[in-house]
Amino acid sequence: MGKNSDRMEKEGNKMEKERAEKITLREAFKAHYRVACKVRERCPGIFLSTGLHSGVSALSPYVAIYLSARMINELAGARRQEVLESLVMAALASAAALTLLTGLLLRLKEYMNSKCEMELENMYADKMLSMDFADVESTTSHDLLSQVRQNRNWGGWGFKVVIPCFAHLVEGFIGALSAIILTVSLFTLPVPESAGTFVVLNHPVFLFALLLVLILATWLAPVCGNKAVEYWTRSSEEGKLGNRVFCAFSSLYSIHAKADLRMYNQNIIARHYMESNNAFGPKGELAAFARGPMGAWRALGEAISAVMTGVVYVFVCLKAWAGAFGVGSITQYVGAVTALARNISTLLGTMGTLKSNTAFLRPSFAFLDIPNAMYQGSLSTEKRADREYEVEFVDVSFRYPGMERWALRHVNMKFKIGRKMAVVGENGSGKTTFIKLLCRLYDPQEGQILLNGIDIRKYDYRDYMDVFAVVFQDFQLIAQPLGANVAGAARYDRDRAARALTDAGFGERLLAMPQGLDTMLYKDFLKDGVEVSGGEAQKIAIARALYRDAPFIILDEPTAALDPVAEAEIYSKFNDIVGDKTAIYISHRLSSCKFCDEITVFHKGQVIQQGSHEELLAQENGKYHELWQAQAQYYTG
Ligand code: ADP
Repeated sequence: MGKNSDRMEKEGNKMEKERAEKITLREAFKAHYRVACKVRERCPGIFLSTGLHSGVSALSPYVAIYLSARMINELAGARRQEVLESLVMAALASAAALTLLTGLLLRLKEYMNSKCEMELENMYADKMLSMDFADVESTTSHDLLSQVRQNRNWGGWGFKVVIPCFAHLVEGFIGALSAIILTVSLFTLPVPESAGTFVVLNHPVFLFALLLVLILATWLAPVCGNKAVEYWTRSSEEGKLGNRVFCAFSSLYSIHAKADLRMYNQNIIARHYMESNNAFGPKGELAAFARGPMGAWRALGEAISAVMTGVVYVFVCLKAWAGAFGVGSITQYVGAVTALARNISTLLGTMGTLKSNTAFLRPSFAFLDIPNAMYQGSLSTEKRADREYEVEFVDVSFRYPGMERWALRHVNMKFKIGRKMAVVGENGSGKTTFIKLLCRLYDPQEGQILLNGIDIRKYDYRDYMDVFAVVFQDFQLIAQPLGANVAGAARYDRDRAARALTDAGFGERLLAMPQGLDTMLYKDFLKDGVEVSGGEAQKIAIARALYRDAPFIILDEPTAALDPVAEAEIYSKFNDIVGDKTAIYISHRLSSCKFCDEITVFHKGQVIQQGSHEELLAQENGKYHELWQAQAQYYTG
């Protein structure tokens, strides 16, 4: 079985490699055009700033080549002082101006680039936040995203490649064009008749021979270079594994590193990999390629360029020797021809990079193209001042994608406005699933959920979500200032945030915080960030729900991480905290639900009992009574 799946994986890798090699230039351009549109949409100005910088830096050397050739010619010829003076002035002024301009444009480009890097990260985050929740929870989406990250770590592959490639295309194009302009006279200026046998250099055969050498060399050198680059693509699978291991390393150094990692020396896994055939080490596949064919292709490419430069030198020097042009022009022609070769090689090399990158774009596109299958309505929830929102579950059944078992079955329930409801039941009885459906993280396969009599699918999703404030069991705070966490925004109403924190029982701790609402949570980004305890974090999460001031407040096991004192504090204040809101309170600790107006008991995905604490306790054969008795030994009262 193990061998079989190994073989299948190898076959898969082979197919992936073959596909990567077969990508046409057309396909590569099409894919990158799409990338470029997306990048421009997220970071307007990125291509303009990159293009300007590349254009100016590509042009600069030719200005210097041209002016120095004129100077040498003048020195070797008429030596007129005023001409020399103006040439020197022009050379100095242009060098200063171009250096300054290139520097400024480089700053602008780098600024735009770093902004763009964040924006591209955001693009994936936005997709994650906007896709159907079922896809957020699916391993396929996570696998695609991790492939995107691995490709990026592996060789910088992915969306971002389009920016340097664009820079190289502009540079290569402008550079090649300028070089051609400066080279034309090499072919058109004839050797004078007085040069004797050298007149033969005027023969078109020499012209064609030199052109042929130029074309062959400029074409062959990058072809060899691209052959070498292809080996990166071939090693991508090995590289992916290597990056996974490197990610494992980073978890060892993380602030959140667990004590058990230290205890059981988990580093052993990464170390074992590093000592064996790792992708980045001398025993890896890539190193073998570098010693073998990849290195050979590179060396051949460099050798071809060197031979071409030699041939050009000989031809140009012979023509100058024969008197076709002054010595100064030797600098110009040799400089221009070698630059022409370099620029064409850049252009062809860029095409190769685009082709290689196309294979790496596949997981990005696959991730970004995950469709939203859930129906999105457009009805407004008519923000009612009276907060008269009534929610009803009508015969709702649901099972998680790919699961056989129903997580909820035939659930009927109505929330009465302004009442406090408790949902209780053993672990796995369906309480959280019920909340997830209410918040439209999933749609039920059967039945309907109604808000004021209308199916919730028909409402605009954001509008509908504004009706609820939820504290999920696995809530997450972020490494940002406390106030920003509570408000979910960088700018917010400070009084309201402080009030929400106080209501959630965090008042005293807030006063003790070094910078109050501006105190940074956790140490991820700031040395003096504050690490809050599980219970404190839960209070902040509750404050976040209160800040939202939605008509419905849902607390999913909100006190699970609180100590008994803090728990009692939240309960005693619960009615004040919740005010006139409709509250749904989920817990498997029954003692905490006594104060609710109505209690619903879930069992194996079904509602089996409903009523007040006293009513339910009176039903001695009921589940509630059984659970109560089981827990009574721990909680009295
Ligand atoms: P509770 O909140 O009462 O502990 P849940 O609503 O979390 O229960 O779970 C109800 C059932 O659905 C359980 O059998 C659980 O295993 C299953 N379940 C919960 N979440 C998922 C999921 N994302 N995918 C598949 N099954 C799930």
